[in-house]
Amino acid sequence: MRILHRLWRWLLRPKASRAGAKREELSSAASEARLADFLENTTDIVSFYDRDFRLTHYGSKLKTTYGHAIVPGATLWEIYPSLGTELIDEFDRVRRGGSPMHVELRRSPGEAPRSALVFGAANGIGIIESAELEYRGRTLSEEQEHIVLLHQATHDVLTGLQNRRRFSDRLQQTLSSVDGSREPSALLQIDLDDFKAVNDTLGHGAGDTLLQLAAIRILDALQEGESAYRLAGDEFAVIQSGKTQPAEAERLAASLIDALKTPFVINDIPVFVGASIGIAFGPEHATECEQLMKASDIALYAAKTDGRGCARTFNRSMLLLLEQRENLRRSLRMALERGELFLEYQPLVRPPSSVVGFEALLRWRHPEVGIIPPGVFIPIAEADGLMDEIGRWVIEQACRQATTWPSSLTVAVNLSPAQFLSGSLTDTVAQIIDAVGIRADRLELEITETVLLEQTIDNIDILNTLNVLGIRISLDDFGTYYSSLSYLKNFPFDTLKIDRYFIRDLETDRKSQTIARSIIGLAHGLGISVTAEGVETPGQARWLIKENCDCLQGNFLGRPLGAEATHDFIRRSPLEGYGQWEEEIGRSSGRPSSVGGTEGSGAR
Ligand code: C2E
Ligand code: CA
Ligand code: CA
Repeated sequence: MRILHRLWRWLLRPKASRAGAKREELSSAASEARLADFLENTTDIVSFYDRDFRLTHYGSKLKTTYGHAIVPGATLWEIYPSLGTELIDEFDRVRRGGSPMHVELRRSPGEAPRSALVFGAANGIGIIESAELEYRGRTLSEEQEHIVLLHQATHDVLTGLQNRRRFSDRLQQTLSSVDGSREPSALLQIDLDDFKAVNDTLGHGAGDTLLQLAAIRILDALQEGESAYRLAGDEFAVIQSGKTQPAEAERLAASLIDALKTPFVINDIPVFVGASIGIAFGPEHATECEQLMKASDIALYAAKTDGRGCARTFNRSMLLLLEQRENLRRSLRMALERGELFLEYQPLVRPPSSVVGFEALLRWRHPEVGIIPPGVFIPIAEADGLMDEIGRWVIEQACRQATTWPSSLTVAVNLSPAQFLSGSLTDTVAQIIDAVGIRADRLELEITETVLLEQTIDNIDILNTLNVLGIRISLDDFGTYYSSLSYLKNFPFDTLKIDRYFIRDLETDRKSQTIARSIIGLAHGLGISVTAEGVETPGQARWLIKENCDCLQGNFLGRPLGAEATHDFIRRSPLEGYGQWEEEIGRSSGRPSSVGGTEGSGAR
């Protein structure tokens, strides 16, 4: 059994081991050539199969021994009919990293069985038939080890796709053939949109499965002249050569996006990820690998900033976009000091028309660019580690502003996950409410599920501490992420905010109605108040009021306003602008129209 043991240890070796280092030294083109060479010259019969157990690599000995059906793509069972298909589960286990197993092979029905070893290789399997294996106890020869090693040097172990090294070689090759034959090639860089969230919520095992499933979908979308690679993490690439461009790259990008948009089912849970794609052409955009990579990278970035789930082809103006972001990043560092950040306040209305509070929304008045919305600069602030400091400023500013309003009005502040990470959130909040002198229950902190994704004890602890201080906590954008009900069980939220995605077509779409209605029912069942955001029309408001939604927010009830305008808004109440429906709704629900007429927005 030592042979098994040694091979097993070798296959599971840590990256930095001797063999790993050796693997790093091998260039993939050389590896591929040497693998072919070894397969040809070894006295053993060695063959490799992909995850569907189809033949990928073999030497001519396999052909001379078995003759029949030896073509790339032939299945393991076509080659070795003596292997029962009932072994498929066992092979699958080996493929996924399980220990190698012995099998007995017969070349013809009457022949004595021969021993062979099945081992996992690059998300497929390999089979070694060797005279040496007949002597149990002998270790795998250097040569045998080398064959396995060479195969792995060109393939990504997790997905079985070709690896980054192979990618560089292939790209180099296509770019040089472009020079000679003038046939354009395309590079598509693919990035999964929500991979990190899957890893964080469902665990790394699920993340790995997702990558494997994504790799299969990518492979399935390919045609002749297209090859797929895993570059790193959730980054994949496809190289196309000898095709009519840009039409073919665009067609492929569309079908890849379509394939990856369909939910993956992992541990019986549907998981939505989607993908963004950046496209660049050689030689049009670059004649060197590195530049072409950079161009597709920039295009990918453009796809991400254009809302993700889409493909973009590189063009020079994208460089400008990148430069702008870089400029923003630099000036954002100074923005807080220079007093360029400010808050607007959007009314939260309890039907029919009592203003119960405001949500503070951050803006940046850039001296040259003008007003920049939070969706643009907050991700930059988060990436640059500035969000903790900015967030602290927002809480303080919002609390100070609220002290100038009637004391029954609440102020809601959005929290970034970065503020949870800093570890000082509860202290900061306690200090601020103390310094400002505002009643704790007038402050409501809005968090999204991203904060809870890593549902660590810490995060729940932080929320509990805030809760003990008397601060209200609402769960923002409910319905868009995982909407895991365990959050609701583990923490007593004061408010659920239905994401505006479900409010948008509330008047026409039955599904949105069902979802909004269920969220309201769920929240009320748990004693939690519900706010609908993004209410833009009287019809939406009417529907929500009919369904007993506790609180409404949106442009129909009031756009975000500056500090001064907020005062005017409070003074002008009862609310104007409800037009015809206000009376109607007001009468039917029998509530008075007033400002701060009710105690806060929560239903604690
Ligand atoms: P959010 O928390 O979901 O905030 C509501 C967003 O919806 C605001 O966009 C608001 O202007 C917009 N909105 C309100 N009513 C309507 C409507 O009727 N129709 C439509 N289409 N939109 C409406 P805004 O101000 O651009 O903020 C975007 C996001 O930025 C916020 O989404 C929030 O996640 C984040 N954000 C804003 N301020 C802060 C802050 O101080 N800290 C943190 N961490 N995030 C903030
Ligand atoms: Ca919010
Ligand atoms: Ca929201």
